[in-house]
Amino acid sequence: MKYIYTIFSILLVTSCTSQVKELDNTFNGRALPENTCYVVNGGTEKPFSGEYWNHKEEGSYICVACDSPLFSSDHKYQSGSGWPSYYDVLNEGNVRKLKDMSLGMERIEIRCNTCDAHLGHLFNDGPKPTGIRYCVNSASLKFKPSKL
Ligand SMILES: [Zn+2]
Repeated sequence: MKYIYTIFSILLVTSCTSQVKELDNTFNGRALPENTCYVVNGGTEKPFSGEYWNHKEEGSYICVACDSPLFSSDHKYQSGSGWPSYYDVLNEGNVRKLKDMSLGMERIEIRCNTCDAHLGHLFNDGPKPTGIRYCVNSASLKFKPSKL
């Protein structure tokens, strides 16, 4: 029985890698850095693995695919989840919310409103004042420091 679980876990982890090859690491015609499958296929990167989960510099987080400004370091906090977490967006119009029924759960998916790149999910366990948590893949973001 243990053997079956091991095979299953390996399939889960590698499925993302093989999809990247098929898609040639581009999204809407734009070349992207590695881990693109999170952006294109709505995958979720492993917690505590991304570039920004523990990132504390001041600045804004923009869409990796189209540079649209999405989140600010002013709203970033340590949620303990292992993914970059924000309690608010930079501009409400830049992030789109969709119902996601995958994995047998009802969740709210968040996407870039400009280019439709998958960003992550929205949860109701954030801090005040909003009480919500934008849980985002580091792979969907690029950081732009406020002081150059
Ligand atoms: Zn975008």
